[in-house]
Amino acid sequence: MEKEYRVLLYYHYTTIEDPEQFAIDHLAFCKSLDLKGRILVATEGINGTVSGLKEQTDQYKQALESNPIFKGIVFKEDLEEKHVFKKMHVRPREELVTLRLHEDDVNPLEVTGKYLSPAEWKEAMQQENTVVIDARNDYEYDVGHFRGAVRPDIKTFRDLPEWIRENKEQFEDKKILTYCTGGIRCEKFSGWLKQEGFEDVSQLHGGIVTYGKDPEVQGELWDGQCYVFDERLTVPINQVDPKVIGKDYFDGEPCERYVNCANPECNKQILASEANEHKYLRGCTPECRVHPRNLYVKEQQLSPEQHQERLDVLGEKLPVRS
Ligand SMILES: [Zn+2]
Repeated sequence: MEKEYRVLLYYHYTTIEDPEQFAIDHLAFCKSLDLKGRILVATEGINGTVSGLKEQTDQYKQALESNPIFKGIVFKEDLEEKHVFKKMHVRPREELVTLRLHEDDVNPLEVTGKYLSPAEWKEAMQQENTVVIDARNDYEYDVGHFRGAVRPDIKTFRDLPEWIRENKEQFEDKKILTYCTGGIRCEKFSGWLKQEGFEDVSQLHGGIVTYGKDPEVQGELWDGQCYVFDERLTVPINQVDPKVIGKDYFDGEPCERYVNCANPECNKQILASEANEHKYLRGCTPECRVHPRNLYVKEQQLSPEQHQERLDVLGEKLPVRS
């Protein structure tokens, strides 16, 4: 199939006076272009991913680029065969990225880490007395990250400042490098690090996705895939010596295939091979495998007898229903 669709990933710190009204108008504009995606707007700026046909995404880019409040906005672009979202949402928010810093909030237009180009980043990563901090969540790290990067033990971005304070001694007197998917989280996080008193703080400009597209570095020193927040789930980065680091949730074998737990109340995202998806009825726990609304059982149209036969292999039982 021809790759006629474009995926745009972008953000811009600026001032949007009335995010609520902006969101309403912007949604109408996006719909008029038949775009699909997810955009957040806040007083501090805009952050979005949208997909659409080339002509429409070009029109969209042009509209933003010619708006003075978005002067200098950068779009990262991918080619795809189809939309990577089902719907179009534009949502007003308090913050673009949730750090919940309250009175310690950082304006990246005033304070942020030094910007490194992909080539500078690759060079800096290999310097002594340097620590690379992944500014993303643990599940993002687990499917791919920069070689040797520190994995903060956090489920959401807002827990990152506290985690840094608790593990401070690891980073004192070190050169700190930090990175995220497209760069937006790092602009704020690196600013916060400087505000916390860390002196030598740098960030990967344009994030991992820019690093993967850079013709010089070609994603080298990145292991695994890069997690993205749309239907693709992951995209490749390293074009030099790609390595699989994701592990199958069930058997620990190398795996980069994400599925959602079939229990609709759980919906946990796990890595699983096709064989294990079937074997474990796409359930992440014995409870999820026997949940009365298990989607896998529904899709496969398993009768209660067939469901039980499949569970026999695992030594599990359907609960007796009265
Ligand atoms: Zn589950």
